[in-house]
Formats: sequence, C-alpha cells, structure tokens
Amino acid sequence: MTEILTAEGLSKAFGSVQAVTDMSMDVRKGEILGILGPNGSGKTTLFNLLTGVYKPDRGRVVFNGRDITAISVHQRVRLGIGRTYQIPRPFGNMTVLENLLVAATQGGRQSEKAARGEVDETLEMTGLTSLKYQFARSLTLLDRKRLETARALATRPHLLLLDEIAGGLTEAEAHQVLKIIRSVNEKGVTIIWIEHLMAMMEGVDRILALDQGRHLLCGSPKEVMSSEEVVACYMGVEEDS
Ligand code: ADP
Ligand code: MG
Repeated sequence: MTEILTAEGLSKAFGSVQAVTDMSMDVRKGEILGILGPNGSGKTTLFNLLTGVYKPDRGRVVFNGRDITAISVHQRVRLGIGRTYQIPRPFGNMTVLENLLVAATQGGRQSEKAARGEVDETLEMTGLTSLKYQFARSLTLLDRKRLETARALATRPHLLLLDEIAGGLTEAEAHQVLKIIRSVNEKGVTIIWIEHLMAMMEGVDRILALDQGRHLLCGSPKEVMSSEEVVACYMGVEEDS
C-alpha cells in the first residue's frame, strides 16, 4: 500500500458556511504534500477533519488502511498523526524542554523516561538545543514555530500535518523552517503542509490546491503553479495576511 492516508468525500458546514465540500485526497507514504488555497478556502477545517477535531457531515478518513472517521483526536495521535496549529499554543510559563515532555507523554505513546531519552534529538532537529531551558513565552516567532514543530514531533508521528508553519516569517526565517521540514521528512515522516502563499511550495512532492472548500487540482508544483484555474482562484486575494 502506498497511501498512508485517504479522505473520501469529506464535507463540513458551520451553519450556513460550507467550509469543506466533497473533498477527496490521498497522501502517499514518504511524500511532502503541499496544500494550497487562499484564506478561507477550508485548509484548516480539512486538517481538523483529518485529525478528528471535527467529525465530517459526510465522508470518511482512512489511515494506514483503517477507517478512523469515528475515533478521537487523542486516538489519532496515538496511531501516529501529529499536527501543528496555525497559531502556536505552547505553555508559556513552561520551558521548551517541559513543553516537549508534556507533548511526548500526553499525546505520545511514551513514559517520561523514554520521552527524556528522545527529547535531545527533537531539540537538535528543530534547532532548539540552546533554548532548552528558556520559557516558551520569551521565544521569538521563529522559535515558537520551531517549538510548535518540535511539540508535534514529540508525539512521534508517522504523518505530520503542518498548518501555515511558515506564516508570518521573513523569507530567510521561512527557509530555516523549510530545512527542518526536509530533515523531518528524510527521517521517514510523511508530511502534509498547508500554506496560503504559493512561493513556499516549490520543492514539495505534490500540491493539492483548494478553492472554496473543494479539491481544485492535485499535481506536481510545476503543474499546479502554472494552472490557470489556480492562478484565477488567487486573483483579488491579498497575499500578505
Ligand atoms: P483556511 O484555513 O483555508 O483559511 P478555514 O478552514 O479556517 O480556511 O475556514 C474555511 C471557512 O469556514 C471560512 O469561511 C471560515 O470562516 C469557516 N470556519 C472555519 N472554522 C469555523 C468554525 N469553527 N465556526 C464557524 N465557521 C468556521
Ligand atoms: Mg487556516
């Protein structure tokens, strides 16, 4: 089996707002799949459906061959689905290290002893080693993004979902985050990476473009970025938010 995750016909409405409509997608083991779409196109809602924050009105989610549509966020984390949040929410009055231990022992499948044994590798991979004993509240945006990634990694995911992890960063900072994403992927973690800026997505394996909660196009970065449909769906959309 080459798919780690498939979604079939997912729909989710909030009152009269149809956030995601009849979304089907597949994620191949080992790839970095980019998800692209303007603000409000349903990207975060799609993540919330894949991770179990919301139950879909229709459709199903299959992870490693198992239908997981009905199981909780916590159970999905235990199966190996990790995620970051668009707005990082670390525990501000805990250190970087403590944040990682909480993520590893609560979300993960580990004792504190096992978690302590792995934490240095996670810190190293995310460039946080020298900030291990800093309080999370004192971190810069870039370091909060690193910590957000590290917290997700501490749950030992097979599939990692990144929600606008480069959002709000300068180009140079975003490049550093990209390096982290690459090194995580090289360790064998499959990645789904949402951004609403096209430029970030060069170099991913495939891109799925969303338009108003629907699957618009999925293909190579070249195919998707040169698509008239994709370009049209970005016209008139502010690029700076
Ligand atoms: P994106 O992440 O692509 O910016 P979202 O998935 O956050 O898009 O939002 C898609 C649509 O669903 C938007 O119109 C948004 O206002 C709406 N929406 C998202 N979450 C909620 C919610 N919890 N309650 C009501 N409306 C929501
Ligand atoms: Mg979003």
